[in-house]
Amino acid sequence: MTSSLSVGQEFLCHCAKCNLELAHIIITMKGNEPGKVQCKTCQSVHTFKPKIIKKRGKRKSTQVQHLENWSSKMQSGKQEAPIDYSPTKKFEIGDIIRHPTFGDGIVNRLIDNNKIEIVFEADSKFLVHNK
Ligand SMILES: [Zn+2]
Repeated sequence: MTSSLSVGQEFLCHCAKCNLELAHIIITMKGNEPGKVQCKTCQSVHTFKPKIIKKRGKRKSTQVQHLENWSSKMQSGKQEAPIDYSPTKKFEIGDIIRHPTFGDGIVNRLIDNNKIEIVFEADSKFLVHNK
């Protein structure tokens, strides 16, 4: 990291309490890195940890990648309001749909006339359509 951080500045880091990547305010600096930071969401003050090492770190990073992929795809979606998913409806690439179980997703691929791949927030799913 080459960006110069300073006290009072806002930056993104992981909040252990919220268990999310959130905006924090730097309270103290430790060399070139933040020392203590305050979560803007839950207001808790904690020590900045540059790396979160977890046993399932690899799996987590795949999930993060998926989430980034999902959110950027969602931004490129055709409509702002999602279409309620139904197997009888016909969907096209770029359609944003809402599924009762999986939530909001975007049609990523047409597998065949009756099958589509949808990228949901948690995972990609193959669903039937156009039945
Ligand atoms: Zn928090």
